Amino acid sequence: MPFSKLGLLESMQRVVDAAGYREPTPIQKQTIPLILEGMDLIAQAQTGTGKTAAFALPILQRLNALETRPVPNAPRVLVLAPTRELAQQVADTFEEFGKHMPRPVAVAAIIGGEDIRYQLRHLEQGVDIVVATPGRLLELVREEEIFFEELFCLVVDEADRLLALGFAEELTLVLNALPKNRQSLLFSATYPKKVEKLTEQVMQNPSYINVIGDVPTVGNITQRAIEVNHLNRRPLLMHLIREEEWKHVLVFVSSKRAAHNLAAKLKRDGIQADAFHGDLDQDERTFVLSQFKNRNVRVLIATDIAARGIDIQDLSTVVNYDLPRSPVDYIHRIGRTGRAGAAGVAVSFIDHNDRTHFALIEKRTQVRVDREQVPGFELTGVAPEKKKGSPPVKGKRPSKKDKARAAAEGGTV
Ligand code: AMP
Repeated sequence: MPFSKLGLLESMQRVVDAAGYREPTPIQKQTIPLILEGMDLIAQAQTGTGKTAAFALPILQRLNALETRPVPNAPRVLVLAPTRELAQQVADTFEEFGKHMPRPVAVAAIIGGEDIRYQLRHLEQGVDIVVATPGRLLELVREEEIFFEELFCLVVDEADRLLALGFAEELTLVLNALPKNRQSLLFSATYPKKVEKLTEQVMQNPSYINVIGDVPTVGNITQRAIEVNHLNRRPLLMHLIREEEWKHVLVFVSSKRAAHNLAAKLKRDGIQADAFHGDLDQDERTFVLSQFKNRNVRVLIATDIAARGIDIQDLSTVVNYDLPRSPVDYIHRIGRTGRAGAAGVAVSFIDHNDRTHFALIEKRTQVRVDREQVPGFELTGVAPEKKKGSPPVKGKRPSKKDKARAAAEGGTV
């Protein structure tokens, strides 16, 4: 099916051609015609499905139909995203598409962790589209540096993540500052009660689109589960990278320290590796990510927060060195590979202690992954008995949510 069938004009076909998209993905087929008509929409879709283009293309077409230039500090389109990386990526997509449009499109990323003066100057010049994380945006709303009289479209991207990171309050405050008469589009990989409540706040008679289906896994990703003792994971990873010739690997670990240590050890052993986590400042993150994207770095060791939403073309392999905490995180992690139709492999390392947890992930995601053992790295010993520790003391330290939000928006964790 050609893009023009969806109502996209000839001028947009140039954008699509330049991006190298041959035909629309399922989410694009369903959303583009409705967005062009100005309808409100709830779309349940994960990253990797082509959801950014699904809203960016019709929004750009609508913007292009406007005759006037944007007014200073008053964007026409607002996209809210949970993390700096995702916001930057969405802004980059708009910029890239915008280059091929008849009328130039001005885009500003309003995100934490970067120079606010530069972002303000940009806003003052007049922008069509603002892509923002909620915290930084709210600062500008409070300081009356941004106005929404001109706004005709709101996009809430990865709504479930926004709420999981505890941004509900900021979202409500931002939403209250927006004009009622506007188009609202909400994208979310999952649709829990919290998101449902948010949609009631945001939407008027929305259409509901779901491209996830019954099984929320990505079909073109081969999933593997390799049983290995914890202490043998690093030698196994090295072995697999070399023997199976993994070219471009994203490895998930559960802490910044683990990311740092593992990257250092791989480097020591002659593999180009780098760590990507919340302790890096924005410049470092951008640099590390670009090194990985450009393939100057072969293995990126990342924590969940840092890796959320990053889009890397042709990423062949994702490794769960530490298992994710939840099945939803598992889907998000493995969805980093196999993007938009490409093949990918997701490998999980499983020790005795991880067996029950991985079985739960399989159950929730409705897949069954065969257990493998790699000769020379077989799982040995038996599962240690569980001991009950003393319960944690609440309120003494910043909560996980506090830390996650700080990391997502530019602070340190
Ligand atoms: P997203 O779900 O927005 O994170 O997009 C995932 C990847 O799919 C990005 O690298 C897009 O450039 C790519 N993509 C989006 N639409 C298409 C399409 N119609 N055909 C091929 N690739 C696409």
